Amino acid sequence: MREQLLMTPGPTPVPQEIQAVIAEPIIHHRTPEFKEIFKQVTNDLKDVFKTDNDCLLFASSGTGAMEASVVNVLSPGDKALVVQGGKFGERYYEICKAFGVDVIPLDIEWGTAPDPESIKDILSKNTGVKAVYTELCETSTATVYDIKSIGEVVSTFDAILVVDAISGLGADNLETDTWGVDIAVSGSQKALMLPPGLSLCAVSPKAWRLVKNSKLPKYYYDFNKYKKAKEKDDTPFTPAITLTIGLKKSLEIIKSKGIDNILKECADMAGTVRSAAEDLGMGLFSKAPSNALTGLEMPGGKDASLLIKAMKKRGITVAGGQGELKGKIIRIAHMGGITKKDVAGTIETLRESLKEL
Ligand SMILES: *Cc1c(COP(=O)(O)O)cnc(C)c1O
Repeated sequence: MREQLLMTPGPTPVPQEIQAVIAEPIIHHRTPEFKEIFKQVTNDLKDVFKTDNDCLLFASSGTGAMEASVVNVLSPGDKALVVQGGKFGERYYEICKAFGVDVIPLDIEWGTAPDPESIKDILSKNTGVKAVYTELCETSTATVYDIKSIGEVVSTFDAILVVDAISGLGADNLETDTWGVDIAVSGSQKALMLPPGLSLCAVSPKAWRLVKNSKLPKYYYDFNKYKKAKEKDDTPFTPAITLTIGLKKSLEIIKSKGIDNILKECADMAGTVRSAAEDLGMGLFSKAPSNALTGLEMPGGKDASLLIKAMKKRGITVAGGQGELKGKIIRIAHMGGITKKDVAGTIETLRESLKEL
């Protein structure tokens, strides 16, 4: 198999400049040198999250930070609302269940975004809901949720708002502070242009108040340990040193371009893929398409796995559908290190591969 261009919603291509710094000899983490890097990274992340909140880093894939955003704020039997409109909403449901949380699911049709009024309804009818868990981009359906409006609703209740922005951060706009997001979760291998293995939580003062009383079991992901260490620009355990150094470079790239310019570029690439799809007779799966990735329906009910194989043969890896969407859609990412040129090449390959089918 030839070298593949990863047009997948994680991992995404790692730019050369980042590859270069993560290939350097390892340094020790209990050194002024690493502390300086750690300090800069946790500070520069604030621009990407658009927040003044504490940004905590964990050595795990994104799901670790999802779990952290549950075990640090809730106690057994607490009520939480989970929006389930795809695979990753289901994951939040499963994590909550695993820890004995009383979950109230808001089930929505896959490919649609939740109506903030439905969230308001549930919160009005169920007193004492502690937290609302939702996606920014539900990657399995390539759908962006209206976090701004959801934030307006949740802010009128006591509940905190937790947003899985693992694929959305750096592709779909997220205004953590102005939209009232209490925990924003992300991961390294999507728009942050890194290999997998680093996850992030930006935690608001309102969420920290819940952390104080939370009784769910936790050890590795205990926010308090990370906060205490962070006051000395330190980490409670061995951090993902190499990825943290890579993140410093990634954040430099993001800073030099400007986060809003990057979001605009993602929107442009998304627009290009959407209009090409129309051209190729492929329907858009999502009714609220994300700028991080696009989900395309197969023409004439053909098997998506054949199309994915045909594209792979030509050096382009795209993702298939997950869960009930397996075989029905393909998903093309346009975030992080993916360029307009990559998108153009992918569309050309898509055209040729469809012809072959
Ligand atoms: C990729 C992704 C995850 C899962 O992250 P892992 O790194 O595989 O643990 C969770 N949520 C969303 C929305 C994602 O796109």
